[in-house]
Amino acid sequence: MKKIRMLLLPILVIGLAVLFMYQGGYELKLVPNEPELRPKNVQPDPKERTTEFALAGGSERENRGFPQREILDLAAQFPGLFYREGPTDVRKIALTFDDGPDATYTPQILDILKEHKIKATFFLIGSRVGLFPEVVERMKKEGHIIGNHSMTHANIIKLENKEARQEVLEAEKEMRSFLDYRPALFRSPYGSLDAEKIEVIEDLGYKIIAWNVDSLDWKSLTAEQVKTNILENVRAGSIILQHSAGSEKEDLTGSVAALSDIIVVLKNEGYQFVTVPELLDIPYKQ
Ligand SMILES: [Zn+2]
Repeated sequence: MKKIRMLLLPILVIGLAVLFMYQGGYELKLVPNEPELRPKNVQPDPKERTTEFALAGGSERENRGFPQREILDLAAQFPGLFYREGPTDVRKIALTFDDGPDATYTPQILDILKEHKIKATFFLIGSRVGLFPEVVERMKKEGHIIGNHSMTHANIIKLENKEARQEVLEAEKEMRSFLDYRPALFRSPYGSLDAEKIEVIEDLGYKIIAWNVDSLDWKSLTAEQVKTNILENVRAGSIILQHSAGSEKEDLTGSVAALSDIIVVLKNEGYQFVTVPELLDIPYKQ
């Protein structure tokens, strides 16, 4: 009898822990994904080897410690300022692509979007904008929305407020040579933000755009893995995160190869692709 009682306690504790984790509601269903490095046959453009192209905060791969849970909390704490999804009662979704422009993947993504007549939202890195001006011009000409993803892809919460401000404003200045307006959407590198930095960015007139579906393409996944990560998690109002450029440590071939299929499947399921400002009914410029 005593033995049974001794066993009951650990069973109860484990049971409660499982229940807690289940209730915790971190809803992403992800396939096991083994990162691979950029294969030798994909040679970067020479400009992709310059210091301007480097990510100041390090590769996405080395920095994705920022928990989705924090993003959920910030979205709840700052309604109308910090968004991770749109209204869930209409089947509208937004594709977003970070870290561009580049000469390797961004043009391929633009080709696919054009073929399917879809407008997407690109969060650009300021220091890369001047390296590939023709790619930014094309983005603009084809009706995509351009948002601010900082000047150097720094890890914003590690900066002083003044430096964070500078990251946003310098990127904006680069973009102003292509846009005749100030962008109004900001996405933080690695998703990393806290309440203090959110206020700094709000002061500059920006809305902050996170995501609720992460393709995890920055792990250099295969097309099948990227497809599963998106299709298993998408729902009405979703903001989907992919990348249109990386660093030498990221191979986005799988992400690009998955895009057409993802669009076809979701269109067949009745989803309409819109830009982030359209999904959220907020302005893209200020
Ligand atoms: Zn990024």
